[in-house]
Amino acid sequence: MASQPEVGVSDFVLLDNLTTDKFIENLHLRFQHNKIYTNIGEVLVSVNPYKTLDIYGAATMMQYRGREMFEVPPHVYAVADACQRVLRQQGRDTCVLISGESGSGKTEASKFIMKYIAANTTENQREYIDRIKNVLIQSNAILETFGNAKTNRNDNSSRFGKYMDIHFSAGGDPAGGHVSNYLLEKSRVVAQQPGERNFHAFYQVSSSSQPITSPLLGHGSPSSEGRLLSSSKASKLGLSPSTQYQFLGPGRPTSQDGQLFAATNSAFNALGFPPRVVDEIWSIVAAVVLLGELTFSETPDGNLHIGGPLSQCVSSLGISSSSLQACMAGRVLCAGGELVSKQHSLHDAAATRHALAKAAYDRLFAWIVQQINKAIDVPSGTHASSVIGVLDIYGFEIFDTNSFEQFCINYCNEKLQQLFIELVLKQEQEEYSREGITWTPVAYFNNRVICELIDAPHQGIIAIMDEACLNPTKISDRQLLEAMDKRLSGHKHYTSRQLAPTDKKLQHGVDFRITHYAGEVTYAITNFMDKNQDSLWQDLKRLLHSSTNASLKDMWPEGGTTIQKTSKRPPSAATLFRNSMQALVQGLLSKEPFYVRCVKPNPRQAPNSWDEQLVRHQVSYLGLVENVRVRRAGFASRQRYDRFLRRYKMLSQYTWPNYRGTSDKEAVLVLLRDLAVTDFQAGHTKLFIRSAKTVHQLETARAELI
Ligand code: ADP
Ligand code: MG
Repeated sequence: MASQPEVGVSDFVLLDNLTTDKFIENLHLRFQHNKIYTNIGEVLVSVNPYKTLDIYGAATMMQYRGREMFEVPPHVYAVADACQRVLRQQGRDTCVLISGESGSGKTEASKFIMKYIAANTTENQREYIDRIKNVLIQSNAILETFGNAKTNRNDNSSRFGKYMDIHFSAGGDPAGGHVSNYLLEKSRVVAQQPGERNFHAFYQVSSSSQPITSPLLGHGSPSSEGRLLSSSKASKLGLSPSTQYQFLGPGRPTSQDGQLFAATNSAFNALGFPPRVVDEIWSIVAAVVLLGELTFSETPDGNLHIGGPLSQCVSSLGISSSSLQACMAGRVLCAGGELVSKQHSLHDAAATRHALAKAAYDRLFAWIVQQINKAIDVPSGTHASSVIGVLDIYGFEIFDTNSFEQFCINYCNEKLQQLFIELVLKQEQEEYSREGITWTPVAYFNNRVICELIDAPHQGIIAIMDEACLNPTKISDRQLLEAMDKRLSGHKHYTSRQLAPTDKKLQHGVDFRITHYAGEVTYAITNFMDKNQDSLWQDLKRLLHSSTNASLKDMWPEGGTTIQKTSKRPPSAATLFRNSMQALVQGLLSKEPFYVRCVKPNPRQAPNSWDEQLVRHQVSYLGLVENVRVRRAGFASRQRYDRFLRRYKMLSQYTWPNYRGTSDKEAVLVLLRDLAVTDFQAGHTKLFIRSAKTVHQLETARAELI
């Protein structure tokens, strides 16, 4: 492989003259030659080619097996292999953190990593391992159906954060897995931006007149029978592919949706979802679509009349029309221990319907993830010894209008950047100090201050929002903004029109702006209160729990209690999110991290097209050039003396077969002198070699001898 002609440099550390321009030039040059991967030491930079490259087959996989990263051309498989090697050789947990903006190739990278890890197993217990591998890969198909959607940035955009742990047996083979999901963008269930779609699941279920194989029939069933059965099932659900539904926007199901519907069903089957449960899941999806079709009007005697496909909708939900009617017409509250009923206006009724649709789908998604986890869990009795975690989570988002969702997503990116700083930039420099190495410190922006702006106890934005939600009198979004302005004025990374009256880009009373590490984002405070409170009326929970759809009932256990008992307020959406981020970061801190930094070459999802501005922005906020600087101020390789000696001792007569001296360190220094290697520093416990080239030369010399 080393004989392939190099295009540009394959490790940015080797760039002659490091500037952002040079960095981008190298990235572009390689991109033009379909070299989409470039390293910064062990960090992998990946540019989305938006075209199929023949670089992922079994033959390529073989080339990466058991090879050190610096020995082979940069590739996502090299990262996967390094992970697996650390795990097998050192028994350490590892994780791959994949970051980048929407459409930059994160999810594809995570799938290649899974594919590599799954393929790279030993021959023992082949059948069992194949089953686990299949289950892990199939679970992805289901997650994408229910959690992905077409957006203007990515036709298959993940609208949730995903962290997947793959557990390995002591022999290093996959033994099972666990998926954690973060914050599904549930507002998409009821409305989408122009040009975007709802979650794929909706189109898949309404496209079911396409030929599919019913899960009821299992694999290999006669397709004509499958087709008949499925089309009658589609109409049973009350959906037709040609109808335009409110919640589905102008887009209609495509033939691809039909094919994917078959694939999703077969994935459910592979994961052991019983056919009854699969039917119940699709019923809920269909019911959500139909909820959007209900119309509300007032009868002459002032009652709520529901028109549209009511009977079909309630039958799919497994509830009675009268109970749905009652929940739309009004609600029962528990105020000071007393039950009070409150009549809804038509506007309230419509809002309640939206809340119900979003909550039902959101809970469905979370429940499906739970069921997947049951299916891929390490079987009891199997001893799983180590873990590779793969994090594929939303990239930084800046839209024309940014709301609560973007606030959470961008906060998540701040936390991950903080982790990157802690693990890569800071630890690297700390190691030099510890080892007594001379180096020039590299300045970098530490975004801790922004994390704290958002999540500090009492003072942070989340704390201020929660405080407002707890206030017994209802606080409006504007009042929340005022409270934030009061507490955060003077913070370098926060402003609003109130605080910066001349800033015309901010709307008075509505907008606030956070200067994120990746750039400025203006958020509209509208609906922050509601979205943070995220409370579904007790009646609606009881309604869903009363369903004859057993899966739906199971999703809403809290609907089984009486109203008085459940007056305790659940934690707010932002607090839950913050807690899940903190838990995620804690889990990642204990693992050895590998990074894949994904870059999107153009906003059109087009091959062979390079938008310099767009790339420059990403290179800047991903901190890639700083990353190279730290790495260069640093060293391409660091290894403990004993390991280094073991690997290279055959290169010198003084150390082969054994060195007769006092310490490994001394032996290594003798070895290096004999080889005339000078670009290194000797730390207390480790040897630091400056250039990757030297390491490569050592490796080549070694390969010639063995
Ligand atoms: P993200 O998860 O970062 O939003 P995706 O991984 O979904 O982005 O990638 C968006 C699209 O780009 C994919 O659907 C695929 O068409 C294309 N793509 C991404 N990575 C690759 C790759 N390595 N090779 C070919 N196409 C890719
Ligand atoms: Mg994705």
